[in-house]
Amino acid sequence: MIECATVYCNNSACFTFKICPTSINKTTERCNGKSENEMKNGDEERISKYSYVSPLCMSGGDGYNSYSTNSLLQRRVLSKAKPVLVKNTKELMINLNFPTYIKVADLGCSSGQNTFLAMSEIINTVNVLCQQRNQNPPEIDCCLNDLPNNDFNTTFKFIQFFNEKNITSKESYFVSGVPGSFYSRLFPRRSLHFVHSSYGLHWLSKVPEGLKKSKMSVYITNSSPLSTYKAYLNQFQTDFATFLKLRSEEMVSNGRMVLTFIGRNTIDNPLHRDCCHFWTLLSRSLRDLVVEGLVSPSKVDSFYIPFYDPNEKEVKEVVQKEGSFEIKDLETHGYDLGHCNQDESKRSKSGKNEANYIRAVSEPLLVAHFGDAITNILFNKFACHVSQHASCRNKTTVSIVVSLTKKKLSSCP
Ligand code: SAH
Repeated sequence: MIECATVYCNNSACFTFKICPTSINKTTERCNGKSENEMKNGDEERISKYSYVSPLCMSGGDGYNSYSTNSLLQRRVLSKAKPVLVKNTKELMINLNFPTYIKVADLGCSSGQNTFLAMSEIINTVNVLCQQRNQNPPEIDCCLNDLPNNDFNTTFKFIQFFNEKNITSKESYFVSGVPGSFYSRLFPRRSLHFVHSSYGLHWLSKVPEGLKKSKMSVYITNSSPLSTYKAYLNQFQTDFATFLKLRSEEMVSNGRMVLTFIGRNTIDNPLHRDCCHFWTLLSRSLRDLVVEGLVSPSKVDSFYIPFYDPNEKEVKEVVQKEGSFEIKDLETHGYDLGHCNQDESKRSKSGKNEANYIRAVSEPLLVAHFGDAITNILFNKFACHVSQHASCRNKTTVSIVVSLTKKKLSSCP
C-alpha cells in the first residue's frame, strides 16, 4: 500500500515539503526556531554545496527529448545488474536476521519509471524471500534521491504504474523523495539498510580544478595532456571517497550498497578512449558548429563535462583506502547502446537514438554554458557522427557494478 509521500530536505532542512504523488505543496517553516535572517549565514555553506551541481540534471517531463522517454539504455543497464541486486538484497535480509523494518534509498533516481524498477526488484525479492523462509515481511521505507532540480513530479506520476504492475505483494511500503546531493549527508546516522544507485556516480560534484584550455574537447581524449587525466582522477577519488564516508555514517553495520556506473576497460594508457566515445563525439559535433561559425572556439575551450569513467582498479583503490566498506561483487558489462550496424537506415536510427540518450543527460549542462539556440543542430551533428561509427568494435566504455557491505566497526553497537 502506498502512503502519501513526504519529501525531506537535507539533514539541515529548513523547509518541510509534503509531496503526494501528483502535487507538491511547499510550505516554508521556521527551522529550529530560527528566523530567515538568522538562518542565512549558517546556511550559506549548505547552499553552496548545491550551487555547483545546479545545472546538472536530466531533462525533465515525459516529452520527446526528456530523460523519461530516453532512458532505455539505463533500463538495460538496470536489468544486467539485477542478479547482483537480488543477491545482495537476500543476503542483507538474512544477515540482519529478517528485521521488521528496512530503509532503502535509490540515489540519483532521476525522473521516470526506471527508479521504480530497482525499488520494485528489492521489494519483491524481500517479500518472496520472507515467504520462502516463513518470516513476516518488513515494512519498507523507499527513499528516492536526486538533485533538487530533478523533476520529482514526473517520477511520482509513475507511482501508479509501480503500484499496479510491478509489486507482486500488497505489503506496506512507503515512498518518499529526498532532494539533495549524494555528495552531502542525506539521511540520519545509522538509519539506512540498503543503498542502490545506477548511473549517477560517474557524475562528479564539479568540473576538476586546474584543467588547461581544452582545445575543444569536452572530456579526456587520446591527445589530452596527462595533467587532465590526473585532475579528473583526483576529483573522482575525492568525490567517491566522500560518497562512501557519508554513506558509512548513514548506514547500519552490514548494510549493503549496489552501485552501477559508467567505467572504462583500459588499464594501460589512462588517456585512451575509443573513437566513438560519446564525449569525443560531442566534442566533434561542437567543433562542427565552430567551423560553421555558430559557436566561438573559446566558448568550447572553456567547457568541460563533470564526469569520470574509472576502471576497476581505480574503483577498488578508493574503496580500500576509504576503508568503511568491503567489496562483495564487482562485475563489468558491455555498454550496450543497442546499435544495429547493418544497413544505412538502421545506422541512422541508432545514431538518432544515441543522440537522444546523450541529449537527455547533458542538455541542461550544455544550455547553461552555450544557451539553448544550438542544441537541435548540435545533436543532429552528433547523430551523424554516431552513425559513421556504428561498426566500431573496440569499445572502451563499460558499466561497472559493485556491491559493498558496510563493515562492522568495533565502536558501533
Ligand atoms: N538511476 C536512474 C537515473 C540515472 S541518470 C536510472 O538508472 O535511470 C543519473 C541521475 O543522477 C540524474 O538524475 C542526476 O541528476 C543524478 N545525480 C547526478 N549527480 C548527483 C548528485 N551529486 N546527487 C544526487 N543525484 C545526482
